[in-house]
Amino acid sequence: MITKPTELDVEAVREQFPIFRRTIRGKQLIYLDSAATSQKPQSVIDAEREFYERYNANVHRGAYRIAEEATAAYEAAREKIARFLNAPSKECIVFTRGTTEAINLVAYSWGWANLKEGDEILLTEMEHHSNIVPWQLIAQRTGAKIKVVPITDDGLLDMDAFERLLTEQVKIVAVTHVSNVLGTINPVREICQKAHEVGAVVLVDGAQAAPHLPVDVQAIGCDFYALSGHKMCGPTGSGALYGRKELLEAMPPFMGGGEMIRTVTFERTTFNEVPYKFEAGTPPIAQAIALGVAVDFLTSIGMEQIRAHEVELTSYALERLQEVSGITIYGSAPPEQRGGVIAFNLNDIHPHDLATFLDAHGICIRAGHHCAQPLMRRLNVAATARASFYLYNTPDEIDALVEALKEAAKFFGR
Ligand code: PMP
Repeated sequence: MITKPTELDVEAVREQFPIFRRTIRGKQLIYLDSAATSQKPQSVIDAEREFYERYNANVHRGAYRIAEEATAAYEAAREKIARFLNAPSKECIVFTRGTTEAINLVAYSWGWANLKEGDEILLTEMEHHSNIVPWQLIAQRTGAKIKVVPITDDGLLDMDAFERLLTEQVKIVAVTHVSNVLGTINPVREICQKAHEVGAVVLVDGAQAAPHLPVDVQAIGCDFYALSGHKMCGPTGSGALYGRKELLEAMPPFMGGGEMIRTVTFERTTFNEVPYKFEAGTPPIAQAIALGVAVDFLTSIGMEQIRAHEVELTSYALERLQEVSGITIYGSAPPEQRGGVIAFNLNDIHPHDLATFLDAHGICIRAGHHCAQPLMRRLNVAATARASFYLYNTPDEIDALVEALKEAAKFFGR
């Protein structure tokens, strides 16, 4: 029997986010851009402030009380992220500044060491630039080739094409868990299984998944998983890379500097153990600690509850948006295969004009190419508007979006 998660108390959630007390031009702030960055609860804001007020010190080096406190809190945050992702141990978690840095780490470290001419890197048509460009840079240096899995007209990955493209030449598959434009949730578990059959490793870009769904890296079976703290109620400048420990151990360092070494002479350097080998220099300490608090916050609410809330909101939004004549919605994955992201256009109104119009109503949406220009080309558009939802959004906010879009159509005379 499937037990339904208990319903989320959205009002209680919203009270924990001070920004929602703000008004914009006399109107309540309606934030529908969490795919770009999420808002932060008070506990996360307090955690960062408390670090600076009470135990600001560098980590892993001080021999005094506050440095020990800082190190303990930093390492506890690593442990929390490991548990959040069901990683086998905290040594599998490398702190990064976000998904972009995590993917670059894998591309430069794993990619440079393992790719050569004749090898292939398999990406998909729905990747964010940060899961395309690092691979292009590495392909140029190593002679490996990039191949791309197309999407279907419904905005799903074309799995038949994936299987055709997945040859023995493919050494790494880099795929987004959830599309930041179409909202599509990709079958990452199946992708990992198939990729492993040909001996390829898999990097999953979890930027749009880790904040919204329960993620279990062991069940997925991925080799790498990248996430951004700022999209999951944590601070900017925080994020993480999960990597299988054997892989991380075999990989060369990404950046050189303090902290990542064991001994240094001018002739030779030996490196620290994982994950420290990948954390050169002073890390964003307050941010990592506060990311741990964001993980506590999300866990205390429950990822199943958050997911269920977003499924409801997205279904409601998709239904209500049909009332807006002239709207085109990109991607038609069924609710169980879709996250809380809806990209759309309204007649031929430029998405930036639409976003400016909505801003006058206190509604924040994103407009542009969403760092996914190849996908825009596939969809035959230069840009789209995008509304994205999180645990603090309500059906009333979707009603406000729909009404404002109807007004926009009238205002622009279309
Ligand atoms: N991948 C996806 C799917 C994203 O949506 C984003 C952020 N828009 C990124 C990667 C990059 O994340 P960050 O800018 O936090 O490094």
